Amino acid sequence: MKRLLITGGAGFIGANFVHYWFAHHPNDYIVVLDALTYAGNLDTLQPFVANPHFRFVKGNICDTVLVEGLLREEQIDTVVHFAAESHVDRSIMGPDAFIDTNVIGTHSLLKAARNVWLSDPKNPLPHRFHHISTDEVYGSLTAAELPFTEDSPCKPNSPYAASKAASDHLVRAYHHTYGLQVTVTNCTNNYGYYQYPEKLIPLCLTNILQGKSLPIYGDGKQVRDWLFVEDHCRGIELVLTCGTVGETYNIGGVNEWQNIDIVTLLCELMDAEFVANPTLVERYPDSPCAKGLTARTLITHVKDRAGHDRRYAVDCSKIETELGFKPLETFETGIRKTIHWYLDNQQWVDNVENSEYQNWIAQQYESR
Ligand code: NAD
Repeated sequence: MKRLLITGGAGFIGANFVHYWFAHHPNDYIVVLDALTYAGNLDTLQPFVANPHFRFVKGNICDTVLVEGLLREEQIDTVVHFAAESHVDRSIMGPDAFIDTNVIGTHSLLKAARNVWLSDPKNPLPHRFHHISTDEVYGSLTAAELPFTEDSPCKPNSPYAASKAASDHLVRAYHHTYGLQVTVTNCTNNYGYYQYPEKLIPLCLTNILQGKSLPIYGDGKQVRDWLFVEDHCRGIELVLTCGTVGETYNIGGVNEWQNIDIVTLLCELMDAEFVANPTLVERYPDSPCAKGLTARTLITHVKDRAGHDRRYAVDCSKIETELGFKPLETFETGIRKTIHWYLDNQQWVDNVENSEYQNWIAQQYESR
């Protein structure tokens, strides 16, 4: 039985991980530590509120005293660290929060873990510190280049990617210097349930329903690899249970798409949903699909993001050969599940689309 501290467990991937972990390890104990920034949403953890194996703590990972207290009181043996500022556009407009949470916050967790688990370095407590990171730390690829491996140099281009790269280096250093038992995963773009609608796929889905424009940066030919979030959670589980301490593993979907092609696909799938399910016409009268038009009419090219990376892709052969990882969802099945989830969970979307979100979107367009 594990006792896990999950940071950022009210965010998109962290919350999916809590759902995944309880579904597969119902006897484990989970403490979620989350500051509930704009991206944190307690609605997503509602099913566990009454579960005696679950505790939610509102707090900041930069608060080392709080983290140390939790590790001790709750006898935590595993930290899975998701908490981060995660949106590249926000990092371009205001990098400070990214340095605070992603760099200083990660260091605060490492310090706390060292103080508690390695207080007697000759007799360390059994432990694991798993750090969640991104493929963006490696920088950008051209169309002709091979995907990044775990040995590719870090060449981050955005303040977000740089802050994540810094946190990866700190985790590595705590292993080599102090012997902290760490593992790191660098994953490609995730999609799936409970994703805040500022990221490409939920933004497009919710905008199509509301008849709002679908902004495409520049020519839209930037390439990203996509992985269904549950497959990411399974990859993390494999690394936690079978991975080698001190190692980094890339996780991806081997599923590269140009942004414009993803948006076009989402438009086509939503057009088809409205044909197949006439009740959508009444529920979403502002959608072009309700007026017999295609959602593609909403596509709007906007000024490209500053320093926009052209292509990300990772070589996943290490996690595949060493741990037997393969995504279970194809993009086809995962994207359909995601569309149906957003159609069936409008209340969740309404709850996150509060005034803070609206102000942020307004600010985005003003700055262009
Ligand atoms: P998210 O923005 O949806 O959630 C982040 C969560 O962290 C939120 O619940 C927020 O309240 C919490 N948080 C932020 N600052 C905090 C602080 N100082 N203290 C405590 N909690 C804080 O992010 P996500 O998309 O779920 O990403 C989770 C992790 O996965 C991040 O580390 C991110 O870099 C990484 N990642 C994301 C993707 C992706 O496609 N979303 C891909 C690869 C890696």
